Amino acid sequence: MKRNEFLRAGGILAASAFFSPNSLLAATRAKKEKLGIALVGLGYYSTDLLAPALKLTNNCELKGIVTGTPSKIEKWQQKYGIVDKNIYNYQNYEQIANNPDIDIIYVVLPPSMHREFTIRGAGTGKHIFCEKPMAPSVADCQAMIDACNKNKVSLAIGYRCQHDPNIQQMMKIAKERPFGKPRMINSAAGYFDNRTTHWKQNKALGGGVMGDMGVYALQGARLATGEEPISVIAQASTTRPEIYKEVEETMMFQLEFPSGARAACQTSFGINMNHLQVNYEKGWLKMEPQSAYNGINGSTSDGKIIKIQIENQQAKQMDEDSLALLNGNALIAPGEEGMRDIKVVEAIYKSVATGREVKI
Ligand code: NAD
Repeated sequence: MKRNEFLRAGGILAASAFFSPNSLLAATRAKKEKLGIALVGLGYYSTDLLAPALKLTNNCELKGIVTGTPSKIEKWQQKYGIVDKNIYNYQNYEQIANNPDIDIIYVVLPPSMHREFTIRGAGTGKHIFCEKPMAPSVADCQAMIDACNKNKVSLAIGYRCQHDPNIQQMMKIAKERPFGKPRMINSAAGYFDNRTTHWKQNKALGGGVMGDMGVYALQGARLATGEEPISVIAQASTTRPEIYKEVEETMMFQLEFPSGARAACQTSFGINMNHLQVNYEKGWLKMEPQSAYNGINGSTSDGKIIKIQIENQQAKQMDEDSLALLNGNALIAPGEEGMRDIKVVEAIYKSVATGREVKI
């Protein structure tokens, strides 16, 4: 090693004592222009949204796949030029550790599998992106965060809406409070799911509408107030008991916030709805849709329109998270943010089970 290289390496090591694990990794890993992503689970979201979005990204690119269905491989290779050595299955997944093409593992499996694939993925030394809902329980979320910390890798949750400038505008209003304190929130997210056998109807796989669309209704209330709920009362129901045997089709929940604001939230696999209304002391904000892939928009009582066009939400999310990793900056939605929602989701299920208000 030349003297100046040695000094630079020494400087990095000395500086590492003061920097976050992120910045240390960013400094010591080979500097790449684009980070390589491996998608784990090639279902609807990977196929229709994430992989196409990865053709538009500047800071990351699709380099690998992890699948339990070998028949999918040829199509993915043809479409995305993925080389043989970057293809894995659920059994040999850990071998990603030795693959310099892959920097990020993106877990896009049913929620009950997020914990296992995040922990095994963190053990490979690669950063983790994990889809929402982070996991079925707070204990799962904590184990995922701990594994990433232990392996000095970062964990980002796929909260694409928090990367959308229209939602960021709403969060700015929550922070700066131009209309005073929030008083009443109505937040809804749902769609009609006509499938009859899917993991979304299976409890063991992490199904149920609350983790799926419910986190959008919950995020609407949390982000619009900028506060964490302190209590909840909830009611689950279904109009199709022959399909929703194990999990709820619809959940209605009321949240109470420290400022005294209250939120009435609804989520359903049986109803198309996607809106947020926040009434503040001196005005209001409305968003509809509040969590769509395209065209989130809204307005405020002072006549302002919130309508910022972006090319692709998922591309923006993965680009911003990758840039944060490259530069050693904080992530917009780290594991701790995913766990905040699951803490409320757990309280919601407890309230349904007991029929009572639950303190959070
Ligand atoms: P999907 O059912 O279409 O795909 C699931 C994938 O997991 C499939 O490739 C399937 O083969 C694989 N899998 C492995 N083991 C399985 C098992 N035991 N049962 C079922 N599938 C199994 O689901 P999806 O809609 O792609 O959702 C995957 C994840 O992405 C979920 O966490 C979901 O909440 C999330 N998601 C997020 C968004 C978003 O907007 N952020 C949108 C859709 C889905």
